[in-house]
Amino acid sequence: MLQQARQLLQSYFGYTAFRRGQDQAISQVFEGKNTICVMPTGGGKSICYQIPALVLPGVTVVISPLISLMKDQVDTLLQAGIPAAYINSSLSAQEVRDTMTAAKQGEYKLLYIAPERLESYVFIEDLKEMPIPLVAVDEAHCISQWGHDFRPSYRQIQRLADMLPQKPIVLALTATATPKVREDICRLLSIDESNTVITGFARENLSFSVIQGQDRFAFIKDYLQKNEKEAGIIYAATRKAVDQLYEKLRKSHISAARYHAGMSDEERMDEQDRFLTDEAAVMIATNAFGMGIDKSNIRYVIHYQLPKNMESYYQEAGRAGRDGLDSECILLYSSQDVQTQRFLIDQSLERERIPRELEKLQLMIDYCHTETCLQSYIVKYFGEASSEPCGRCGNCTDSRAAVDVTKEAQMVLSCVIRMGQRYGKSITAQVLTGSKNKKITEFGFQALSTYGIMKEQSAKDVTNFIEFLISQELLGVEHGSYPTIFVTAHGKEVLLGQRSVERKEAVQTKQIAADDPLFEELRGLRKSLAEEAGVPPFVIFSDRTLKDMCVKLPQTEEEFLTVSGVGSSKLEKYGETILAAIAAFCKEHPEREKGVSADIVETKHKKKAVAQSHLDTYELHEQKLTVSEIAEKRELTINTIENHLVQCASEGMKIDISLIVPEQYWEALDTAIQEAGRERLKPIKERLPEEITYGMIKVYLSIRQPEENSYS
Ligand code: ADP
Ligand code: ZN
Repeated sequence: MLQQARQLLQSYFGYTAFRRGQDQAISQVFEGKNTICVMPTGGGKSICYQIPALVLPGVTVVISPLISLMKDQVDTLLQAGIPAAYINSSLSAQEVRDTMTAAKQGEYKLLYIAPERLESYVFIEDLKEMPIPLVAVDEAHCISQWGHDFRPSYRQIQRLADMLPQKPIVLALTATATPKVREDICRLLSIDESNTVITGFARENLSFSVIQGQDRFAFIKDYLQKNEKEAGIIYAATRKAVDQLYEKLRKSHISAARYHAGMSDEERMDEQDRFLTDEAAVMIATNAFGMGIDKSNIRYVIHYQLPKNMESYYQEAGRAGRDGLDSECILLYSSQDVQTQRFLIDQSLERERIPRELEKLQLMIDYCHTETCLQSYIVKYFGEASSEPCGRCGNCTDSRAAVDVTKEAQMVLSCVIRMGQRYGKSITAQVLTGSKNKKITEFGFQALSTYGIMKEQSAKDVTNFIEFLISQELLGVEHGSYPTIFVTAHGKEVLLGQRSVERKEAVQTKQIAADDPLFEELRGLRKSLAEEAGVPPFVIFSDRTLKDMCVKLPQTEEEFLTVSGVGSSKLEKYGETILAAIAAFCKEHPEREKGVSADIVETKHKKKAVAQSHLDTYELHEQKLTVSEIAEKRELTINTIENHLVQCASEGMKIDISLIVPEQYWEALDTAIQEAGRERLKPIKERLPEEITYGMIKVYLSIRQPEENSYS
């Protein structure tokens, strides 16, 4: 039977082999064993009951808690040529009756139903009139009170199984199952625990990273500009934050959709639709968004703020890359969000649950601070034995150089103290950069010895630096009527010279996927095919399938069938159109080679994308802009711009050093380097006037004697 299953996998779904766990789950079902199948999101759980449904006589009933998901799943099956239908509250009474009649006549292989239906005696009587060999329980954790979305109606499933004239096999599926939830599922659905199929929690195609101490909005803006064609979700913690971010992006001419519980049902549906149909590439939302969304081509999930715990985080981040293509999960961390989350926990929970939730929040914060593999941290959190470092996450791949910023930190910290630790970030930055703002003079801050000591930097950079000091817990934030900053115990150690501070250069945004004109063409074609068919684009073909077409460049129907995700139904429906488009493209681009893996195109491109950024900086440098002007213009940090210039120098481009370090300092610099050597920046810095920054020294070193450049 497994042989037959494999053939069906090919002919209906267009896949050549089962993924880990799928064949085992399917075999167990064929052997008549009630089974629980635990796989991460995107692991391929649906196939585990869809293939048996094709083989077994009668109609497989699928219990699914999410209305929107049902429709997409049924659309996907219909696209694959598998007769299926659903019954939920979105149908009229007449539609329900018609569907049930058709089901009794054996017109469907799969029937999706909402769990609430099982409460109805009449409905169960109807089901009794159909041969039901298999009951698949999707999101099976909903049966347990320990799970995060308990649904009382799930408790009716066992009753259904008992009442059917021919006892069905029960297959429970879930992505989130702590041992306790698993036990519950098994007990409540009469599954022998030895019939558990479980694959790892790690998601091979996701790369996680945590970014802190950087300007979040600038990061997002840059990221969205680089990846404007890719679909992604940005999660923010509150409705207000969603609205603010949405407006700011709109002002920057980035079109996005938004979603939160404060909007009307209709508005939310419209926005969700715009996102699902690829009308808007990015969705900005609170955690109210995402349940029941199985859009497979989400390339990134960014958390603009800290989520409340690892469970929510992994669930939300896990919505990226269901199609198995490389995708990114980025968390933008600021320690101030901890307060917001504490507040939300405090507001929304009964007293006795608060300590437990605070504990979970702490583990979420620990995730943000860990220096080891993020993927390993996650799987360990979910109770899996520790794994090898993933080699993909932000921590595994971090090669940024750290720069000693103790002196700058001391300047900021002492300024905060002199200002009485009663003011916010931006006014502190204004004092440090010597702003002539009226407020400053009103308070008499221009008389402080720290007034203007960082005047060669922009107020924005200094604000970012303060943000960084907060992330290092050298500054704390007091949330009164407005947030003010104070020096922490660690910060005091820095002031006393007992602790040094190192800062890594800013994380650069990157392009996730390669630009491939054929891919763009096919993506556009898919969109119009989807509009015609009245389904979301990802239901027609996944991104992965389009990528595979780009590699295989099929010319015949047989070749088209070898594309992953193309079965006979898709061939029949879309073969002609797609083959014609590919043929036309190849005619126009005779240089396009078959068999060039998308990965190769991609890595080539990735290098270019990274390479691009310093070239953009160079262009501005050639226009005689200073480092801080370039930083301002590109909304990057001074540090990043300096690194770009170091890179340009190392690639042999001509740098005008006078734009970076004023000529009057050159002699002093040469002397300092001679005395202190080139190995470390700190001793050089100590020999120079305050206004010479580490960055200046770094660039100076790389340009004056590039052959010994060891600081880039
Ligand atoms: P889950 O329900 O576990 O989150 P899905 O069933 O939605 O995952 O499957 C995720 C994606 O993987 C879908 O696009 C699906 O078509 C694809 N997929 C499933 N099984 C295979 C397979 N054996 N080979 C290739 N792709 C597969
Ligand atoms: Zn890692």
